[in-house]
Amino acid sequence: MPIPKAELHLHIEGTLEPELAFALAARNGVELPYADTDALREAYRFQDLQSFLNLYYELMTVLRTERDFEDLADAYLARAAAQGVRHAEVFFDPQAHLARGVGMGTVVEGLWRALGRSEEKHGVSTRLIMCFLRDESAESAMAALDAAKPHLDRITGVGLDSAEVGHPPAKFREVYEAAAALGLRRVAHAGEEGPPEYVTEALDVLGVERVDHGLRCVEDPALVERLVRERVPLTLCPLSNVRLRTVDTLADHPLPAMLDAGLLCTVNSDDPAYFGGYAGDNFDAVRETLGLGPERLRELARNSFLASFLDDDEERRARYLAEVEAYDFG
Ligand SMILES: [Zn+2]
Repeated sequence: MPIPKAELHLHIEGTLEPELAFALAARNGVELPYADTDALREAYRFQDLQSFLNLYYELMTVLRTERDFEDLADAYLARAAAQGVRHAEVFFDPQAHLARGVGMGTVVEGLWRALGRSEEKHGVSTRLIMCFLRDESAESAMAALDAAKPHLDRITGVGLDSAEVGHPPAKFREVYEAAAALGLRRVAHAGEEGPPEYVTEALDVLGVERVDHGLRCVEDPALVERLVRERVPLTLCPLSNVRLRTVDTLADHPLPAMLDAGLLCTVNSDDPAYFGGYAGDNFDAVRETLGLGPERLRELARNSFLASFLDDDEERRARYLAEVEAYDFG
């Protein structure tokens, strides 16, 4: 069994495998412009961020009903459990669904049908985090937050994703203030394609407690020092970074240097159906390619639980941490 871990950076729409895409398309009478699953899997070999995003949004059209979202989340949780994930904090993109006429209730309640019984069925505890699309307006984000109000018992926090460059965190200051006032936890993608200044802005203007990616912090030693001092978790996604050309090859990934610097790094899968692997696959890749030994892998697993939003269930966190310390790499 793989080492127990928490997954903290996972877009549920990015877990749509070609087989499920076709099954949902057939169920909903949606015509996909691909002959079969092989042809679709071929399209998953996109070359850059824009071609990925085009496919990502195109395939979302197969998600229509609560049952579709339930099936999507349930398939992810089964895969994650098989790779040692014990706790998953799942992102979703409500604006992408609202824009095509699928209501917030359908998305949230559908996902919850899987997340709410995940512990019993898969042995995976869950949290749900709604992300705002940063390339849409702040008004659109605020409208999504308003639409989520009847469902806040299902939602732990807010995040910020999609195309980063040109959409600095400060654009969403008021939305994050409103989210904080509702008692929601705050995270944001920053420093993936965007500059280190976006990481600082996410911390200072949006009040985020975790930075998603944050990779480019390494360009600013003062920022690294601050992230270490304040114990700000970074949710890294190594296979995603390779597929989107954030790093040239996995061997060039700064993860080992970031751990050496004392940063609180975690390893996650981002959009695993598209980026070549789930959480355990990412752990395997950094072990094999970056030469991380057992104690470094244990540190990554430990960090994932320390960085998780389990503050309302410290007993559970302690149990997971004990599983990490007891894990035998054999
Ligand atoms: Zn992401």
